[in-house]
Amino acid sequence: MTPAEATQFLAAHQIKFVLAQFVDMHGTAKTKAVPVSHFEDILCPGAGFAGFAVWGLGMQPNSPDFMAVGDLSTLSIVPWMPGFARIVCVGHVHSKPYAYDARFILQQQIDRLTQKGWALNTGVEPEFVLLRKDEQGKIQPCDSTDTLDKPCYDYKGLSRSLTFIEKLVTSLQAADFDVYQIDHEDANGQFEINYTYTDCLTTADRFIFFKMAASEIAKELGLICSFMPKPFANRTGSGMHMHMSMWEGDTNLFADDTDDRKLGLSKLAYHFMAGLLAHAPALTAICAPTVNSYKRLVVGRSLSGATWAPAYITYGDNNRSSMVRVPGGRLELRLADGSCNPYLATAAAIAAGLDGIEKQLDPGEPWNVNLYDFSNVELTEKGIHTLPQSLKEAIDALVSDDVIKNALGVLADEFINLKQMEWVEYMRHVSEWEVQRYLEF
Ligand code: ADP
Ligand code: MG
Ligand code: MG
Ligand code: MG
Ligand code: MG
Repeated sequence: MTPAEATQFLAAHQIKFVLAQFVDMHGTAKTKAVPVSHFEDILCPGAGFAGFAVWGLGMQPNSPDFMAVGDLSTLSIVPWMPGFARIVCVGHVHSKPYAYDARFILQQQIDRLTQKGWALNTGVEPEFVLLRKDEQGKIQPCDSTDTLDKPCYDYKGLSRSLTFIEKLVTSLQAADFDVYQIDHEDANGQFEINYTYTDCLTTADRFIFFKMAASEIAKELGLICSFMPKPFANRTGSGMHMHMSMWEGDTNLFADDTDDRKLGLSKLAYHFMAGLLAHAPALTAICAPTVNSYKRLVVGRSLSGATWAPAYITYGDNNRSSMVRVPGGRLELRLADGSCNPYLATAAAIAAGLDGIEKQLDPGEPWNVNLYDFSNVELTEKGIHTLPQSLKEAIDALVSDDVIKNALGVLADEFINLKQMEWVEYMRHVSEWEVQRYLEF
């Protein structure tokens, strides 16, 4: 889109304000509303922010302004806010892209692929829980009749939340998402909406837009839309699986029908996947970056009985118990959840995958069995390692993984520091569980 086309677009949609939007380190959308008469300012010099006020930008009160410079290719309407448009920005300082900006961090990893003539396509699966607060202020699934033990794909579960779903899907479609499936998932109040994959930068931009849309449309209806990985201990958690394929022009470099292992993957895909597995613990810190994430990535059965979350550093055919599932001609990284910053998660995955390609790593044979069935002794015998089981374990792994740290660049220390503080804060908190268990111990 050229600036002139953008001006036409804004006029055609009767836009009064443009949201200049970027994300903080946590992947939370930050914006300024710019009256359309000043739209061109977002392109040059950008919308100015005091970076000190935003998590993870490495700024002090005396630092220069963080200028959010719009990427014209991302301009879209904000359907649930009539008269508003959104443009995704990259932070600039002193007229140069800013190294702490998550979108710029991803762009730098994409540049490494571009130099090889490659492009990474990704598709993510947003899972979320639609909730309301009851009279006591406790969160409950939004529909009080959504109480089945096995609510997955249930017709009534879907039909009774249709007002929200329809508004959300219509909004996504109006912003060019190709939505192809909507279902009720395995937890009460849990849904997933699927839309077609595209280049990994756009997919990350879209995930942020998805969260903006879902939270605000829910709010309008008096509901809460949560992407929290595990809002209820006894219910399935929400993930954000990321499907990946590498392209050279129209050719999917990850697909190969002649694969000896019969997974339809090329040698390049196996190397890339081996890189994901080799860097799994540190990758987990970026893809599952909250204390709560590790209540989803549990080893063994969760309290909900079934668990779909990956727990093991393995890959397999159509295997939902391993970290990477191979649906055919692509890789599904099952680590990530909706609390991640999608730019950083994608950047870290590219860095891990490229390391696997550069070192020609081999991921070993696939595990096509239910890994939850193995005992600890069997897992050790077979050399199957588990993913980090707490934020602390994951951050410790990140501290000693230079490949993933290099991908984050200067943000790595800031990320580690903030996440270590998050862990300490969590450990100092005294929970209801502890009081119940130990009060009169
Ligand atoms: P599942 O629940 O079986 O994991 P979904 O249909 O929910 O699958 O999600 C699949 C995701 O993978 C979608 O975002 C889809 O667009 C994406 N996808 C499909 N093919 C590719 C591909 N070649 N490269 C990247 N993503 C892909
Ligand atoms: Mg001011
Ligand atoms: Mg799915
Ligand atoms: Mg799902
Ligand atoms: Mg999936």
